[in-house]
Amino acid sequence: MTLKIGVIGTGAIGQEHIQRLHNKLVGSTVVAVNDINKSQAEEVAQRLTPAAKVFENGHDLITDPNVDAIVVTSWGPTHEEFVLSSIAAGKPVFCEKPLATTAEACLNIVNAEIASGRQLVQVGFMRRYDKSYRLLKEQITNGNLGQPMMVHCAHRNPSVPEVYAGDMAITDSFPHEIDVLRWLLDDDYVSAQVIMPRKTKHTRKDLDDPHMILLETKKGIRIDVEVFVNCPYGYDIQCQVVGEDGIGYLPEPMSVLLRKDAKLSHEILQDWKLRFIDSYDVELQEWIESVKAGVVRGPTAWDGYFASVTADACVEAKHSGKIVPIQIGERPSFYAPTALKPAA
Ligand code: NAP
Repeated sequence: MTLKIGVIGTGAIGQEHIQRLHNKLVGSTVVAVNDINKSQAEEVAQRLTPAAKVFENGHDLITDPNVDAIVVTSWGPTHEEFVLSSIAAGKPVFCEKPLATTAEACLNIVNAEIASGRQLVQVGFMRRYDKSYRLLKEQITNGNLGQPMMVHCAHRNPSVPEVYAGDMAITDSFPHEIDVLRWLLDDDYVSAQVIMPRKTKHTRKDLDDPHMILLETKKGIRIDVEVFVNCPYGYDIQCQVVGEDGIGYLPEPMSVLLRKDAKLSHEILQDWKLRFIDSYDVELQEWIESVKAGVVRGPTAWDGYFASVTADACVEAKHSGKIVPIQIGERPSFYAPTALKPAA
């Protein structure tokens, strides 16, 4: 069976996902697209999936009987309405991160999904599908490192656009770390603290950079993450898990070791897309398979909600200078990994 997908939002990542779902991955086809900018949606459909129907609005796309499942890649503030609409239609929905732009909106989605009685929502936290993170997780779950005690991480970008301002290091970049570290450690956070080092000369007046974010987990693991978004040398994601019996390092992206010009060197990536390009393919291929199997195996609406609450706590911690508790309550049994619900 070929899964017939409708995509809402034909901007940057929307176009990439349409290309993947329609032309690259196995078992799916894009039959419908929508964007608030209709001429863009028409141009994208024409170029990438000419037989697809272009819808005037996302809600009509969701309820169209020819659409089996929905991919939401529109602007963040629209995610809540399109995910709620997909739940109301009883259709599986893959929503790019963030699940919604406020914790309250994420909770609305969680409550609607629980009330529907069926797990339908997956959030686009693609690092869980990255081969290097999966290898590191294997070392933790097979006990090779002993119990993890500390995790040292860095999220470094060479530069960010002008629109990246305010607390976006926490609300836009850091959520990937929030999700992948929770998944890696199979643990939840209980508090957050943010320490501001001196500002780099490479940033703008209106953008604090770098941040040092400290998280504490329920099991007592301490995590420090440097988020440095004007790091001139390149795009670099680091993660080091310190266990009782050993230390696991996130593998470096593969590159040729050069002996040249009196130097021994490896290339460092400049573009974040290249770092995670393969993980997007794995993420959406596994989503297609899980939708067909009638389950949600990836990051859930609860995970999206948890990321939002954690990011809010970090923003509060940054501005108050205090250690802020992360109070979210127990994960509902609806979202327990063993309680996978049929999606249709
Ligand atoms: P983008 O290029 O701005 O694309 C978003 C598109 O949504 C735009 O074409 C926008 O149209 C459209 N849109 C806005 N309101 C809409 C509505 N009501 N109905 C239908 N379409 C609407 O942004 P992007 O970079 O693709 O990002 C999209 C989402 O993916 C964001 O939530 C972002 O955080 C996420 N993302 C995730 C990753 C990841 O690593 N997982 C990477 C990149 C992006 P206009 O431009 O005309 O407003």
